[in-house]
Amino acid sequence: MRAGSTPAIVLRTREFGESDKIVTVLSRAEGKFTGIAKGAKRSRRRFPGSLELFSHVHLAFKQKNDTALCFLERAVLIQPWTRLVTSVERYAAASHVIELADKMTADREVGDEIYALVVAALARLDARPPTSTTLRVFELAALAASGYRQEFRRCTRCQAEIADVGQGVRVPFSGTGLLCVRCSDRDHGGPTISADAAAILLRLEQAVTRALPDGGRDMDATAAFANDDAIDADTPARVATEIRIATTTLLQPHVRGRLRALESMGVL
Ligand SMILES: [Zn+2]
Repeated sequence: MRAGSTPAIVLRTREFGESDKIVTVLSRAEGKFTGIAKGAKRSRRRFPGSLELFSHVHLAFKQKNDTALCFLERAVLIQPWTRLVTSVERYAAASHVIELADKMTADREVGDEIYALVVAALARLDARPPTSTTLRVFELAALAASGYRQEFRRCTRCQAEIADVGQGVRVPFSGTGLLCVRCSDRDHGGPTISADAAAILLRLEQAVTRALPDGGRDMDATAAFANDDAIDADTPARVATEIRIATTTLLQPHVRGRLRALESMGVL
């Protein structure tokens, strides 16, 4: 029997039988995995309110072998996110963050970048009311952490500067970068966005690069959200809508299934 421990975020939880819970977590050391917490509904000592959705915990577990069911032994709260459940907007935004992390990772696929990004995004949403910029930065950062880093400065086909292209920039259904108006005609389609939206996309991607420098240099997940307020202030509602369409298009080929939390959100 292998015993381990790791910091983790609770992605999904459901009751099982009289007193147990089945819990799926995204952990720093072991990636995403699911385990059974025996007696979780009764034991305030081993699981003191720590196996709820979004919980950031230090988890101790035991496992016979890699394919066997994992037993969650104890979970201690690292950080109580007290405000994530205080408004519908915060709850929906936090749900989007963990749903996206869940749908972009496979079981036991270890990547501490996505774990660190989820922790930073939930901390941001706990500290301040959610904004569309916070969610868009998280989406682009999750893509980068999963190997789909975006390039918005140049057309992905002819390398023309997007800033020089003007209107009619296309977000291709292939889920990578932007196409200038000349190249977009030869592509298989995708929504078009304004020059203003393309400029904001570039700033969002720069925030991602500050957090996750290319080439595996030191990551600082919280840096992704450091400029949210400034970008928000420069993003009118019309542009925010275009950007949401753009990032949703870019996510589509890389996410399993629909993004239900996002669909439930009206304005963000
Ligand atoms: Zn082009």
